[in-house]
Parts: sequence; C-alpha cells; structure tokens
Amino acid sequence: MAFFDMSRSTFISMAAVLVLGAGFTAPLSAAEPSSSAPFSQWLEGVRKEASAAGISGNFLDVALAGVQPIKRVIELDRRQPEFTLTFWKYLDNAINPARIRRGREMMAKHQKQLQVTARRYGVQPRFIAAFWGLESNYGTHTGVFPVLGAVATLAHDKRRSRFFRAQLLAALTIMNRGDVNIRVKGSWAGAMGNFQFIPTTYKGFAVDADGDGKRDMWNSYPDMFASAANYLSRSGWRSGWTWGREVQLPKGFKLEHSGLKIRKSLSQWQALGVRAIGGGRLPNGDAEASVILPAGYSGPAFLIYKNYRTILTWNRSILYAIAVGHLADRLVGAGPLKTKRPANEVALSRVDVKDMQRLLAALGYDAGGSDGVIGPMTRTAIKAFQHKSLLPADGYPTMGLLERLRGTK
Ligand code: CA
Repeated sequence: MAFFDMSRSTFISMAAVLVLGAGFTAPLSAAEPSSSAPFSQWLEGVRKEASAAGISGNFLDVALAGVQPIKRVIELDRRQPEFTLTFWKYLDNAINPARIRRGREMMAKHQKQLQVTARRYGVQPRFIAAFWGLESNYGTHTGVFPVLGAVATLAHDKRRSRFFRAQLLAALTIMNRGDVNIRVKGSWAGAMGNFQFIPTTYKGFAVDADGDGKRDMWNSYPDMFASAANYLSRSGWRSGWTWGREVQLPKGFKLEHSGLKIRKSLSQWQALGVRAIGGGRLPNGDAEASVILPAGYSGPAFLIYKNYRTILTWNRSILYAIAVGHLADRLVGAGPLKTKRPANEVALSRVDVKDMQRLLAALGYDAGGSDGVIGPMTRTAIKAFQHKSLLPADGYPTMGLLERLRGTK
C-alpha cells in the first residue's frame, strides 16, 4: 500500500511509524522485476543468488527449508486506512502519558549504558530512548512475523520485489553471520528488534557493543543502544544539538518562508521576528534552521535543526520526526506543546483526499495523481492553489479547503 508514498506527508498512517522501522526509505520505482514464477521455484533463484554472494549452501538449506509465503503479510501490505491521521491524532497515538512514564523509567534503569553510548556516539540518551519508545514501545512490541517468511513474501510479490529481495538477502547475510536466528520474528515488513531495523539497516549499522560476537537487538542493551546511536551518528547526527523547538511566529510571517527547503541562520530567524515559545529570544548563532508548520498555519510552528533532518533519514515522515523530538523533550521533563489544538479537527477520508486531488488537477494543479494519499506533490498543488486564491499558502489540506474546491464555500 501507500506507506511509501506518504513520506514527508502530514497525514500518515501510524502503521508506517510502528511497522516499517528504521531505514525504511525505499525509493519509489516504477519498474520492478516481475516475479511470476511459483514461490518455490522463485526461492531457488534467491538461493542461487545468496550462494553466489558467499552465503554457505548448508546454511541456506536450513534457513530456506521452511520458508513459505504468508498471506497475512500481503493483506497488511495492501491495507488502506479509511481516514488520514491529523497532526494531533498522530501525536496522541505516538506520545501518551504511559509512554512518557515508561520512557523515564527506562532512562533511569539504563542510565549508565545510555551514557556510555552517548559518549561513544554523540547521541543523547533522551533521543535513543525516544526512538526506542516509538519503534517498539521500549521492546514490548518487536513483531510476530517470521522475518524470512515476511520479506520473502514481499520479495516474491510484484509490488516491491526489488526492495524486498535486497532485504531478504541482507536478512540471510546477518543470519549466516550469527547475529540473528533464522526463525527470528519481526514486523510484517521484516523490521527487527527493539529499534525495528530492517535487514539492510541491521546489516549496515548494527553494532556488537558487548563484544560477544553477535549484534543482538533483542537481548543486549549495549548492542541495541549502540546500534541505534551508530545509525544516527552515521546519518549525520550532530552531537550536543537538539532536534528543534516549538516557536512563535510574528504577525504577518510570510508563509513562503516556511518549509524544509527554506534554510536560514538562527540570527536571521530572530531578525524576522521568530521567537521561542513564550516570547524569548532564539539561541544565538549562525546554525541553520527551517520553520515548519506540520498542521498548517493555525497549528504549532517548529524551528528545526540539522538533527531533525537526520531523524528523517530514519523515517521520512515529518510527523514521525516531530514525535521523536517531542517525546525526547518530554522524557527529560518538558511539558506538552504550547499551541492550542483546534476544538474539532476533522480528519479527511481517503475519498475526500481523492476528491481534493481530482479537483486540484481539474484546475491545472498537478497533485501527483488521485491516490487518496497526501504526499509532497499534493501539498505543493494545494500551496499553489491557496496562493492563487489569496489564502494562507501553507499547503495543509483541510475540510474547508475541500469545500472551497467543491465550490460549496
Ligand atoms: Ca553482542
């Protein structure tokens, strides 16, 4: 389904957050190799490829012996949520009092190991804990599907065969190395362990920090913390920096200054009237930041730094990245967001979104097809329509906007 297409979208299914896991940044590709061969025959081809890549034949005999396609995995892959999640609903799902409380407990319990990891990789404990909370609820939800069966099913299926064939080969590689048991379980899309690493991320970034020869993302806290921190560090995490902050914008703030593409120094934002929430000055300096409005111009504004962009390499959803940052803040005592949530926020259904896209296209704004998913192209089309209509051009889809497009408002 369209999880991939929802990247950087304001509306995104929670499943994309909780299921796909770290490193799930498969590019969209039009042409996937066809895999019309029956499963067992197709699996024989995988075996040959894995063998040619240096994985032992004996190991492959054992590992692939029981691998069967899993019907439920395909159903989950095709699932289409009826309603989109609004910014606030998304945040409520991701961050609740129980998750904050448990996160604080886990930070206290694992304080020493988190600090060792932070010193080594330059990723602060609160961020490691926040990813942990969002990915697996601190290790309580690491998935119930056999990883080999799940990724083999998706690799044999034609929708994302190339991406998942690479996942399957990476899974076999880490299993052959002894990091992971062949019968290990993960998400329906093959994300594994406490930080839900997909096989290629596991292969590339997991760390054996306790020195037992295995990279264990289930049972070894040193390994799992170091692996998450290593992945972030190698994705550009800036040590000593936070992710961003909620800010207040001056009256008359030009919406064209918002968005990830517009980068200015902190002093430039200060000069434009952007202030810390409550009115205080921004930190001094020439560090680069962007103003983003994930819930539109009437919602909260965030000034985001380099580390926010690094979170986006872990998961491309702008809401996921806000959730990680905000949960990290909450774990060390910060309060809820200061911007008031609207009294009645209406979630758009897929049918509404399709209608919006169709109407935009009819007016000459290319919304990237009418698939019912708010992606970057739809947001850009909305922004252009709003600009032309002298509306605040925040690119944010609302029921009011849809009514206006329908000519009923
Ligand atoms: Ca280990």
